[in-house]
Amino acid sequence: MEDVVVIGAGLSGLTAAQALHQAGYRVVVVDKSRGLGGRLATRRIGSTAIDHGCRYLQPIENSNHSSKHHSNLSLISDLVAAGILQPWQPESFELGADGELKATAKVTLYAAPQGMSSMAKALAPGLTIHRQWRATAITPIPQGWQVEGDVLGAAGQPKAFTARGLVVAIPAPQAAALMHRAAQVSEGVQALLCQLSSVVYDAVVTVMAGYGSGELARLPGQTDSGGWMVSSDAHPTWRWIALDSSKRTDPQEPVVVLHSSPTFAANSLDQNDLEPLGQALLLEAAHLAVWMLSPNWSQVHRWRYGFVHQALGAPFLSNPAVPNLVGCGDWCNGGNVEGAIASGHAAAAALAKTLG
Ligand SMILES: Cc1cc2nc3c(=O)[nH]c(=O)nc-3n(C[C@H](O)[C@H](O)[C@H](O)COP(=O)(O)OP(=O)(O)OC[C@H]3O[C@@H](n4cnc5c(N)ncnc54)[C@H](O)[C@@H]3O)c2cc1C
Repeated sequence: MEDVVVIGAGLSGLTAAQALHQAGYRVVVVDKSRGLGGRLATRRIGSTAIDHGCRYLQPIENSNHSSKHHSNLSLISDLVAAGILQPWQPESFELGADGELKATAKVTLYAAPQGMSSMAKALAPGLTIHRQWRATAITPIPQGWQVEGDVLGAAGQPKAFTARGLVVAIPAPQAAALMHRAAQVSEGVQALLCQLSSVVYDAVVTVMAGYGSGELARLPGQTDSGGWMVSSDAHPTWRWIALDSSKRTDPQEPVVVLHSSPTFAANSLDQNDLEPLGQALLLEAAHLAVWMLSPNWSQVHRWRYGFVHQALGAPFLSNPAVPNLVGCGDWCNGGNVEGAIASGHAAAAALAKTLG
């Protein structure tokens, strides 16, 4: 029997797991994916790293920021000191609802030259992590919790874990599905399910596209020769487009990452074949710069739970009737990566108090 099982090795789960591990608890982490980091996702195509999830960290100096989190400056400076993050200063543009591109002030962002998932790897040392292990149900037992799962990877892994405490660090709708069976026997879990139902996510369709080593992947109106990014919260098709390869130390070829708007993604949620969606997005991108229409290669990914649209409004998920079960993630208080980390810390502290 473990002290704690953490379900989910995204930033919130790894933060909670590392905090509990450092406090002396025996912790096991499980994640359904092969890699660590969840939406801190880096795909490797040949020797090229591409961030198709989280794009960068932006320093927040003010604790009155709408996400209600502490400043993330110390996290950024630690990761810069560890050689994981580097400043990234793309030439920045805002895309209006009518498709008009306007230059905006350049800001200093922080990106990982090896890919954003390297941030997650920095949190993993010392932890026991079972990858490709998908939790399918949790059950209250007299000593704590049993977690059952599907072993998707290497044979020989346990099919279930038991622990005194449980941290559920997966997106709210997936957490609700996982807790469904336990809710039938526990009023506390039923109350948690009720809280989870208030959380809403926006989906994102993401295209990664490579343009060959000789291309000049520039935007009209661009004055620098370096990286660029286009953001929009008004355009019907786009949320963000950028020259991802400008984050790398030694880029092999220009690579562009394009993230769709929530509206575009919501309209395509029941479409199983993602290729036509990718083609439609590249066709639309040609309105910005015609060369974007014809990449040498492209890949499409859909994030069903991409960005939190409506958060729970609490630092972590809890109910006094089940104090040895906590939930965490960006969905608790919003705030993306910083929110996920803050939530992981808060959940770990609360669980440690219960476990003693
Ligand atoms: C396209 C995109 C761009 C983004 N850009 C930025 C950005 O620039 N800056 C920023 O701050 N934030 C950004 N974000 C948001 C940021 O990535 C997230 O807020 C943050 O990574 C969430 O971390 P998390 O731990 O809460 O969840 P996740 O990263 O989603 O981690 C959950 C983990 O749980 C695992 N899991 C799920 N179900 C199960 C199960 N049943 N059993 C076992 N494991 C399971 C998953 O595999 C995953 O590893 C972006 C997100 C997307 C999608």
